[in-house]
Amino acid sequence: MNLKAMIPRQAPLVLVVDDVPANLDVLVEHLHREDIELTVALTGEEGLALAQSLRPDLILLDVMMPGMDGFEVCRRLKADPELADIPVLFLTAAHDEVEIERGLALGAVDYVSKPFSLPILKARMNNHLALKRKSDQLAQLACTDGLTQVANRRLFDNTYESEWLRAQRHAQSLSLIVVDVDHFKRFNDRYGHAEGDRCLTRVAGALCTCIHRPGDLVARYGGEEFVAVLPDTGIAAARAIGEKMRAAVAGLAIEHADNSACPVVSVSLGLATVIPDASATPAALLATADRRLYQAKAAGRNRIVGDGDAQDAGLRAQAAPR
Ligand code: GH3
Ligand code: MG
Ligand code: MG
Repeated sequence: MNLKAMIPRQAPLVLVVDDVPANLDVLVEHLHREDIELTVALTGEEGLALAQSLRPDLILLDVMMPGMDGFEVCRRLKADPELADIPVLFLTAAHDEVEIERGLALGAVDYVSKPFSLPILKARMNNHLALKRKSDQLAQLACTDGLTQVANRRLFDNTYESEWLRAQRHAQSLSLIVVDVDHFKRFNDRYGHAEGDRCLTRVAGALCTCIHRPGDLVARYGGEEFVAVLPDTGIAAARAIGEKMRAAVAGLAIEHADNSACPVVSVSLGLATVIPDASATPAALLATADRRLYQAKAAGRNRIVGDGDAQDAGLRAQAAPR
């Protein structure tokens, strides 16, 4: 999951699925509000496809439809981890207890019986949109590092695991970059912890400017260490991004008089790339990137060690000092 994708959009999007065009017209006319977007589908299949592509914040779902009915649409939405959190409000034809119970058991949050009272439907829609906004905000908070506002370790762990599986499925390269601020203890000692915090936030921001693809992620791994996951990225492309990161941090020109590598805040980076096969593991790739980070430190800091570098070959068995 991508941190940007989790930020609630400005205007919530409501998808209305009903096979009767006149119903859709009435709903769109009456539910229209300045601060929401409405989109419609005339079949269950179309509704499901729109849910997948648009990720609406609420789905108003008719039960009785030819082809895929509302129950089946709901069942499929709830079976897909990417869509399961979208609240579904059923529009049921009758006050049929069995039907209502079935819809709720399938995971719908609510229902409105037809012919519906528009004020009640509007009120329920507003309540569910408010709840959805809150739960999106909470989900985003749970994945964000409080100091630097980049992804936290939890989101990294989840993203790394799912990208690993995706790379394995498609036999694609996956790259990791582990980034560590050089002599950061000395920075804190000289400039104070508050200045250290500000420095970390700026470093995180600089790292984020170097990634552009929706699947790329920069996370705070802990302390003054960051990690980037780069799906479908080979050795040369990862090195180019790593070099951009190194230059971007140095380019912040944050004074660091006690840095042995250069007079400004710098970072060392360890890179590792793999096309996951049965013998490769996520932990081993991370360990390789980490080992190369230590080697970059030992070789003088403010530098990168990646696949094919002399430091890596020469220092494979040697534990570099931190
Ligand atoms: P090296 O170049 O070998 O990485 O040296 P270093 O001093 O950066 O590494 P070390 O692991 O010895 O020290 C890391 C320092 O980072 C110590 C710790 O106080 C500081 N640090 C970790 N997290 C934070 C934070 O959130 N804020 C601040 N201000 N400092 C932090
Ligand atoms: Mg450090
Ligand atoms: Mg460290």
